[in-house]
Amino acid sequence: MEKKTLVLDCLPGEPLEIPYARIEGRRGEGPHLTVLAGVHGGEYTGPAAVLRLLRELDPAQLRGTVTAVPVLNQPAFWSRTAFVVPADGKNLNRCFPGDPAGSYTDVLAHEVFTRLIAPSDALLDLHAGDLPESLEPFCLYEESAVEERSRALALAYGLGHVVRQSRAVRTVGGSTSSAAADVGIPAIIAEIGANGICDETSVAGHLRGVLAVCASLGMLPGSPAAPASAPAEHTGWAWLRSPVRGFWLAAVPAGTQVAAGDVLGVLLDPYGEELHRVLAPVAGCPLFVTSSPAVVPDGLLLGLATA
Ligand SMILES: [Zn+2]
Repeated sequence: MEKKTLVLDCLPGEPLEIPYARIEGRRGEGPHLTVLAGVHGGEYTGPAAVLRLLRELDPAQLRGTVTAVPVLNQPAFWSRTAFVVPADGKNLNRCFPGDPAGSYTDVLAHEVFTRLIAPSDALLDLHAGDLPESLEPFCLYEESAVEERSRALALAYGLGHVVRQSRAVRTVGGSTSSAAADVGIPAIIAEIGANGICDETSVAGHLRGVLAVCASLGMLPGSPAAPASAPAEHTGWAWLRSPVRGFWLAAVPAGTQVAAGDVLGVLLDPYGEELHRVLAPVAGCPLFVTSSPAVVPDGLLLGLATA
């Protein structure tokens, strides 16, 4: 393993150092897989899985190259900031492929895209529910010219839900996976774990997913174990936001199938009266649900994966 550091002195303030590792396989030429984690500051299962990957991946068994970044968003990680980069309050995973003339997060995204994502043959970006978010494990890929290869990565990862995001209604724009797919690099976002908890089951799930993808790309010997059952494949998303500031109480846990019109939760006023009732606009499965009751106007409540 080659220990490396991406040093960014083009950002405002002190140079930012992002430690990462490169593992050159000794079993011959093969793809260059990049594994990112810690794009969001309070999502710890992906970083823990990458740290374990660095210890467990045997270069003698590996064909090709793995570049792995345990904690990409260093400022958000060390300040325990959910979703955004503290310097400018922007969500890094809405800013790719970045802008060298933009603010802190735009420049960070540009450097990460140019130096870590663009040289890859495939990209895995490991996430979880952030500090105020519960979540059912899923993989996300984009409609693109390389979507069949992206879908294959998602299926190999082995989670219970897979969401295809159409280009027309790209609910999550500017993500690592969308920017990669736009330049022809198959990519997925994999989400396991929630609420900033670094639990063993979720960490092991991410590690198993990364290793299964390596096997599916021919980078590790053997074929990945087939998942116990085929995942539920969703063709889109409805992300529901709150029209009011209120005390949010979700009525369904992440991973529950709901019908159109089902009550998904309520927002209460400071005296416990119901301000707003949130109904499912269509049938689907909430794959993440805001677990914090503190919700402001336009605050995200949940992501409903639709059939
Ligand atoms: Zn995330």
